[in-house]
Amino acid sequence: MAEKKTFEANVTAVTQYRAEVSARGVKNIINGVRKDSVTGKTFRTLSPIDNTIICEVAESTTEDIDAACQAAWNAFPAWAALDGKTRRNILYRYADLIEENAEKISLLESLDTGQPIRFMAKAALRGAANFRFFADRAEEAQNGLSLPTNDHLNYTIRQPIGPIGVITPWNTPFMLSTWKIAPALAAGCTVVHKPAELSPVTAQILTELGLEAGLPAGVLNLVNGYGETVGKALTEHVHIKAIAFVGESSTGSLIMQQGAPTLKRVHFELGGKNPVIVFADADLDRALDAAIFMKYSLNGERCTSSSRLLVEKPVYEEFTTRLAERVTQIKVGNPLDPETEVGPLIDTGHLSKVQRYVDLAVEEGATKTSGGGRPDGCETGNYINPTFVKDADPTMRIAQEEIFGPYLTAMSFETDAEALEIANSVNYGLAAYIWTKDVTRAVNMAHKVEAGMVWINSQNVRHLPAPFGGVKQSGIGRDGGDYSFDFYMETKNIAIAMGDHSISKLGAE
Ligand code: NAD
Repeated sequence: MAEKKTFEANVTAVTQYRAEVSARGVKNIINGVRKDSVTGKTFRTLSPIDNTIICEVAESTTEDIDAACQAAWNAFPAWAALDGKTRRNILYRYADLIEENAEKISLLESLDTGQPIRFMAKAALRGAANFRFFADRAEEAQNGLSLPTNDHLNYTIRQPIGPIGVITPWNTPFMLSTWKIAPALAAGCTVVHKPAELSPVTAQILTELGLEAGLPAGVLNLVNGYGETVGKALTEHVHIKAIAFVGESSTGSLIMQQGAPTLKRVHFELGGKNPVIVFADADLDRALDAAIFMKYSLNGERCTSSSRLLVEKPVYEEFTTRLAERVTQIKVGNPLDPETEVGPLIDTGHLSKVQRYVDLAVEEGATKTSGGGRPDGCETGNYINPTFVKDADPTMRIAQEEIFGPYLTAMSFETDAEALEIANSVNYGLAAYIWTKDVTRAVNMAHKVEAGMVWINSQNVRHLPAPFGGVKQSGIGRDGGDYSFDFYMETKNIAIAMGDHSISKLGAE
């Protein structure tokens, strides 16, 4: 596995993969054919490590989206009609191929996103696990309920809704795309995927492996380009029945408007400003490890990151002092180095945004213990020192807005009610983390905190059948297990008369 290799070995391997990608470029894949955009225009994807060009990427237009949606529309009836076992076998083969290519996928993902290889190696494998998980359910996904009455047998079945538009963000693109595409294909839907323009490299591999695994032409299509043009066209297309979107809350709002004329079903996984609430009676060592992991892993570019630290007053100074020390020891560096814990941010624009929040912390009157500026030894690329800010007021912008970088904002609280008020004071509601040994308190907090997912005495440990999603401006709908099939499928009720029940005889009485 890539994570066990040395930095030098990773650099050697990625040089070869990069040369391949640079020569081939990233193109569209429509109806099983890899091709340039209709206009032949391209844009460039850069590596956050040093902002050098990785390759040219097809810059598509509405015409390319039209062709992809038509292909997905044409392929839908046969794919939907295929028996679940055949779909399952293809998706299993797909998972095998992802595993066989995991090293290449994870190294290119690190190169394209700046995410440390120590996390990306696992993310590629999780992509394969997603396919196996949903493949196993492909046969049963159509099963519904039996709802008998005395005179009718009502039963429900689920049928795939139709072609799906999948729109994904740049932070961990490969894994996130499989989390949408795997259940959609298992359900019997066809897909048009529009990956983020800032990290499009692994989406091409994902689509190509699907074809190699035996997906019929048109079942999975890839269209590259900008959100405001091709993303928008996808959400407006009449052949697309639903949009599975992961990205910013403001983009979700636009997509809802764009999809309104064609009454799109939407599933949104959006931003977060997730609290980690640490009570004085908690196992503070474990809480410390978890709070640091959940904020500084994946460069802090993680929707479920615990970006607000709420600590009970009696242990606030001790806890934040220990945390501040640890943050200065986080290893920042080249993401291809297996020792690296925080890599470069996705692009210079995002780097400036995070740096602005570092400056804002001081302006707003909070205490910056570390962070901001360029780390030693990282002369090129989009690197920033991991940031820890304490003594914040819950109303400050640094305590309210999603920063999406290696940046943690801490504040204290005195009572359970105050902790809850602070936790619920933001527009977001994706995840919450609660640390206490008092079960009654933990359960009460968990029920009252405004979040789609709560972890008690734990970091984000995922269980694929469990529902994933947020409340408030963090999202609409749930993924995971059967929840995914509820989105990608329509439920149909069928009522059969069991005998001669009464029918009003209008016009005959
Ligand atoms: P973004 O909203 O800028 O872009 C996401 C995707 O939407 C991209 O592919 C983009 O091209 C496309 N897009 C942009 N405008 C569009 C439009 N008008 N119509 C259709 N598509 C459009 O998000 P980002 O900056 O790439 O990603 C970071 C965000 O994603 C953060 O807010 C983060 O919290 C969120 N995120 C959420 C989850 C979750 O599960 N809740 C997971 C990962 C990331």
